[in-house]
Amino acid sequence: IIITPDEFKRVSEAAREDGRAPDEIRPLKIEAGILERADGSSYLELGGNKILVAVYGPREAQIKRLQRPDRAVIRCRYNMAPFSVEERKRPGPDRRSVEISKITAEALRPALILEKFPRSVIDVFIEVLEAEGGTRCAGITAASVALADAGMPMKDMVVACAAGKVNGRIVLDLSEEEDKRGEADIPVAILPRNKEITLLQSDGNLTQEEFEEALDLAIKGCLKINKIQKEALKRKYGE
Ligand code: ADP
Repeated sequence: IIITPDEFKRVSEAAREDGRAPDEIRPLKIEAGILERADGSSYLELGGNKILVAVYGPREAQIKRLQRPDRAVIRCRYNMAPFSVEERKRPGPDRRSVEISKITAEALRPALILEKFPRSVIDVFIEVLEAEGGTRCAGITAASVALADAGMPMKDMVVACAAGKVNGRIVLDLSEEEDKRGEADIPVAILPRNKEITLLQSDGNLTQEEFEEALDLAIKGCLKINKIQKEALKRKYGE
C-alpha cells in the first residue's frame, strides 16, 4: 500500500500509542458468575487489566453499628494484588485503595434498591489481579455485573469509563502509559438509562470546553461498555 506523506502524517497523528482511535476503548471482556461460593461474581479484562469481583449478601449485618433500620448498607473493598503492578505492591490497604473503595461504594449505591433489605449489608470485593490504568472504572463496571449476578434488585446497571487529555487531545479509556504521560484524566460512572452521573473525578487540568468534550466522550464509552455488561449477563442467564 502506498500512502502520501500527508496521509502518513494524518494517520500517525491520529493513532495512539497502541493504535487506538481517540474514541476507542481497549479490548473488553466480561464474564458473570464465575465463583461458586460468592453470591455474585464477575471477571473483567480491559486491555491489560484483570479484575475479579465477588459479592456477598444482602445478609444480616453482624456488626450492630453497621445496621440501618430502613435499608441495606453497601461496603466495598478495592484491593490490588501484590503482583498486579510492575514492582511488587505492598499488600494491604493504602490511601489510594481506601479512596477507591469509598468512591466505588458511592458510585454503585444509587443503582441499588437498598430499602428492600433493612438491617442488611452487601459486601463487594474488588480484586485487581493485573493493573494497566483505569482500574477504578473497570472495578465499578465489573462490580455492577457481580451485583446483578447476586440477584440484587437494581434500578439500572452502573458503568464507568475514563476520558482524558493526552498530547493535547481528548481520548477515551486511558492506558497506564497514557495516564502517566497525559495531561488530565476524568473517571466517570453513570446509570446508563437516565445518564445520572454517580462518579466524577478529575486529575489534571482541562479547560471548560475540554472538560465537556471529555465528559461527553466518557459517557459514550460508558454506553459501549454497558452493552458488553448486558451481553455478559445474557450469556449467563439468557434473555
Ligand atoms: P486507576 O487505576 O483508576 O487509573 P490511578 O490513576 O491511581 O487509578 O492509577 C493508574 C494506574 O497506575 C493503575 O491502573 C495502575 O496500572 C498503576 N498503579 C497504581 N498504583 C500503583 C502502584 N502502587 N504501583 C505501580 N503502579 C500502580
